[in-house]
Amino acid sequence: MPELPEVETVRDGLARHVLGRRVDAVVVHHPRAVRRHVGGALDLPGRLTGRTLSAAVRRGKYLWLVLDDDAEDALLVHLGMSGQLLVRREDAALTLPPPEHLVHPPPPADSRLTADSRLAADSRLAADSRLTADSRLADERPAPTAAPGVPPDPTRHLRVSLDLDDGARLWFVDQRTFGHLLVADLVPTADGAPGGHGSPVPVLPAPAAHIARDPLDPHLDRAALARRLRQRRTEVKRALLDQSLVSGIGNIYADEALWRARLHPRRATDRLTQRAALELLAAAEAVMREALAAGGTSFDALYVDVEGASGYFARSLDAYGRAGEPCRRCGTPMRRESFMGRSSTFCPRCQRPSRAHPPR
Ligand SMILES: [Zn+2]
Repeated sequence: MPELPEVETVRDGLARHVLGRRVDAVVVHHPRAVRRHVGGALDLPGRLTGRTLSAAVRRGKYLWLVLDDDAEDALLVHLGMSGQLLVRREDAALTLPPPEHLVHPPPPADSRLTADSRLAADSRLAADSRLTADSRLADERPAPTAAPGVPPDPTRHLRVSLDLDDGARLWFVDQRTFGHLLVADLVPTADGAPGGHGSPVPVLPAPAAHIARDPLDPHLDRAALARRLRQRRTEVKRALLDQSLVSGIGNIYADEALWRARLHPRRATDRLTQRAALELLAAAEAVMREALAAGGTSFDALYVDVEGASGYFARSLDAYGRAGEPCRRCGTPMRRESFMGRSSTFCPRCQRPSRAHPPR
């Protein structure tokens, strides 16, 4: 599933490739892609046609394109587990290579896919053998399997296309059908600060109004967040994943942050010191900045530059996907346990549960 660094890479690509462009036509190829839009597939084209994409904004894992300059509504994109945004020339057919080609290796130089600018967020964890075992632990549903070399049936993909006035076409594509698009009204932020990264305007889409600021947000009050975290009576990883407390942290970066901060995933939040909570938040911010730095530069180089943990950043992960491998601090084999229907990977020596709250 795309996490904050992956979504930010997509946002950055949108900002560079589609801002200032007017939407001339919209085709909803699969109504399911707009199932959360009030009015559905019949209404969405009318809400977008003739509008100018004026800003690409992100808060946590939420991404939206502001429509026109009046900041009244926006196209909210939910990438789900495997949603992609692709920009290409109008005459380029939307041919989708099989998932393994989306990840490794990059498409051949003579492929017309390489001739276009493209945006992609993808998390085909199952395509990476390192993470397949974790996928089976229900971390993510496995990708649809196709025979080697046989492209998946394109009609099974959710697709929506926006024709832009410069001849480019913005595609939303999702092979696993969890992603979706909707047009939503923008509402004022609770704290009066900008709604997200990419726009100074203090608004955000109504469906994202409950989403907290993320660790990379300069308007995040870290001390206040650390206090709120400690006021929760829950397990620390559960709190990290709560998007209404702090946004943008998913399973992968939660495990990474906890490993860096030497905290057991089930440590009680109300037993953390303010200093420990601040160190944990700093660790989350650091691991995300590193992931962003690793992914952001390759944006135009690969068909899929954003691969969740399955590609470029997997080499740098210290916890996630390393069950059974030696801890990079102490050498103890890393352990994986199920957690909230997914999994936690941690070092049983560096990340001890607190004695007062033993693991359940
Ligand atoms: Zn260790």
